[in-house]
Amino acid sequence: MDSFDILWLQGASCGGCTMAALEGGHSGWFAELKRFGINLLWHPSVSEATADEAVAIFERIASGEQRLGALVLEGAVLRGPNGSGRFNMLGGTGRSMLHWVTALAPRADYVVAAGSCAAFGGVPMAGSNPTDASGLQYAAAEAGGVLGASFRSRAGLPVINIAGCAPHPGWISETLAALALGAVDTAALDAFGRPRFFADHLAHHGCARNEYYEFKASAEELSQQGCLMEHLGCKATQAVGDCNQRGWNGSGSCTSGGYACIACTSPGFETSQGFMETAKLAGIPVGLPLDMPKAWFVALAALSKSATPKRVRANAAADHIVVPPRSDPGRRP
Ligand code: SF4
Ligand code: SF4
Repeated sequence: MDSFDILWLQGASCGGCTMAALEGGHSGWFAELKRFGINLLWHPSVSEATADEAVAIFERIASGEQRLGALVLEGAVLRGPNGSGRFNMLGGTGRSMLHWVTALAPRADYVVAAGSCAAFGGVPMAGSNPTDASGLQYAAAEAGGVLGASFRSRAGLPVINIAGCAPHPGWISETLAALALGAVDTAALDAFGRPRFFADHLAHHGCARNEYYEFKASAEELSQQGCLMEHLGCKATQAVGDCNQRGWNGSGSCTSGGYACIACTSPGFETSQGFMETAKLAGIPVGLPLDMPKAWFVALAALSKSATPKRVRANAAADHIVVPPRSDPGRRP
């Protein structure tokens, strides 16, 4: 198999996406890459190449002398001040990350945004955004970003957005493996360029609190077992991701750890007013499940609450099971 060369750059980043990537694969990320014939040309944190050697790689790719399978960017691109990109220089090159991204992206067969910062601007774009941070092809939900809405890589695809803050290690590894195998086309991506193998799920799917959700039996404080949507800000019914199905670090997820989903796979998630509180209008959560009309949700919620079993109601507001499931006497278990 020919090797599939990838180049990983870091813009305005916390490094969390690299940390996630390094968790990929049962035998470690490097073995996983090797298994799929992926050659990591350079990565700012894990490569041993000197600055001169790294710059030589960038220049060979930019000039067209060296082919690039995928350009992977972690972190937002800082376009300021005044469009110069000089808020984020790539050390040793005398040029900005903005320069390198725009020079290298058109040369790559595929361009990949690793994480919501690179995809949509993410955390560096929050607030008044004084650095003019942006994602590669989106600024929050607005198409355009650094490369422009019409950008297509050499293989004819828009930027592939492995959204998430950080993305699941498996999302990174599986996307790169699929690219190396030539198994990604436009139909494999959703409307925001996110790979559908994880974006066709909601983070809510598979949550261990689903029974509480069905009966609208809610936690009112952290550490309680009930659903976190009504009071504690959970946005998993509106956020794509298979977080509660494939598990993190072998088994965890935000909601299984007791923390609300903050919809980190969604463009603009960083602008949320309070991650641990549910925004409401007239007592009804503002953010309702993606594909359910509001009137239905309100009607179903009222019906569910009226039918909540005592066990579910009591356990929802406790930090351990206080009422175990039992059959009525005389009824078959
Ligand atoms: S997406 Fe999240 S984890 Fe990745 S660089 Fe941005 S802030 Fe860090
Ligand atoms: S806590 Fe969140 S993910 Fe879990 S059932 Fe409730 S809404 Fe769904």
